[in-house]
Amino acid sequence: MGSQIDEGLLDEKLAIIEGVKSWQPRLISKLESVIRSGDEDTLFRMNPIRFAREKGVEEEEAIDLFLHSVKAGLFRLNWQLWCPGCGGIVESFDSLRTLGTHYHCNFCQVNLEATLDDYIEITFALSPRVRDIEFNHPETLSAEDFFLRYIFHPEAYFPDGTKFGDAMKKQKPPMFYLEPDAKFEIGMTLPPGTVSGSDWLNRLDLFLAVAGEPMQAIEEVDIFLDPGSIRAPKAELRPGPKVLRFRNRTALKGAIILMSHPEGEIHSPLAFPPFLSGKRLFNSQTFRDLFQSETIQGEEGIAIKDITVLFTDLKSSTALYDRIGDLQAYHLVRQHFGSLARVINKHGGAIVKTIGDAVMATFLQPAEALGAALGMLDEIDRFNQSNGSKDIVLKIGIHKGSSIAVTLNERLDYFGQTVNVASRVQGLAGAEEIYITQEMYDVPEVRALIKDHPVNAKDARLKGIQEKVKVFRVRARPAEVSAPLRLERLAT
Ligand SMILES: [Zn+2]
Repeated sequence: MGSQIDEGLLDEKLAIIEGVKSWQPRLISKLESVIRSGDEDTLFRMNPIRFAREKGVEEEEAIDLFLHSVKAGLFRLNWQLWCPGCGGIVESFDSLRTLGTHYHCNFCQVNLEATLDDYIEITFALSPRVRDIEFNHPETLSAEDFFLRYIFHPEAYFPDGTKFGDAMKKQKPPMFYLEPDAKFEIGMTLPPGTVSGSDWLNRLDLFLAVAGEPMQAIEEVDIFLDPGSIRAPKAELRPGPKVLRFRNRTALKGAIILMSHPEGEIHSPLAFPPFLSGKRLFNSQTFRDLFQSETIQGEEGIAIKDITVLFTDLKSSTALYDRIGDLQAYHLVRQHFGSLARVINKHGGAIVKTIGDAVMATFLQPAEALGAALGMLDEIDRFNQSNGSKDIVLKIGIHKGSSIAVTLNERLDYFGQTVNVASRVQGLAGAEEIYITQEMYDVPEVRALIKDHPVNAKDARLKGIQEKVKVFRVRARPAEVSAPLRLERLAT
């Protein structure tokens, strides 16, 4: 342990990060202390959410810190796909381009859909140029460290709170490397059920059924690593004591783990401590600004189970351009974009794009989107007052649901019916109105936000949608002063 830190390079990188924006006090020195004293497991997969919790920092600030650290070359950004069955890392890559729509865990024999909400974790690895850590050379780890610290999520836990790693240490499943042409023998007593095995270096799996009358005598079972497969000539074994004789007939080193699964064993999915999900990363304005060139491969995109989409547009902007001229109107529209961006970012949202005079933004929480929409009405009101005119009049629509993240016109974008509905609901809105869908209205936090606002429900027909949908028109609260005034008038 204790590899050398390149002091000059570390200083240089920290100075770059320090200069990009005004961070909260001592944030950079908190990062520096982790780099100097953090254990190698931490530095290999820095979790910004955990960093935020441990250092008393806002999560958004921590995410921004690591994104700027990647830009400065202090950390590398890694995408990891975890298997909720075994807590194993199924895939890891440093570019979004490599992420597919589905992935497969050989060990659990399951196909998993890669949704950005769930098992895609973004971690940050310290640059080996600053401090080299042993996980940069996984082939030098012991087989046990390779599996328990590198392959399996060290913090994954069962519903009862037991850490998966602790359970594995107790259970001690066979874990070993198998060099080319090498042989390895293991004694195991197998109960009825199944045995699964995996060569995690070559992504190969083995599955054996254990059934029938138990055998008292020790049985020898050959298992061959061949190019592209691990197989036992006998695919079904009888329960009882075995000697499993592995032989590597390939030119590649294998890393093998074996697990016996007794009949009737209930396997509940593992949970993971909070991490930075792909969905949250996409919703980071900093990520969108710094890593514009990150693109999703293929035409299928990546699924998102739940995202809130907000559209704004300007009322009678054609008349505005006509009245004050293109140049001045353009200037005003640009300024209003700036105002909206501040409100959107303040409420945890990110601007996906602007289309003409319209803005499309996404939020992780429906209430954040509505909070932003109400904030926009206030902000634009102030904006107009300071300009001494009422040139900018907003119309807003919000909807939530599943979506597909795609790359369109070299930009991370969202696609699908949720986006279409959000856009069409926006189209229903008049001056200073926010239209939301039933899905939004059903969220308790949204209801709490609008309880003092004028809200009207109606059925509307949206282009391209067969059924009428229920929508809700939300307007700004009547000015605080008007209520007592009205009471006074009634009293006289
Ligand atoms: Zn698995």
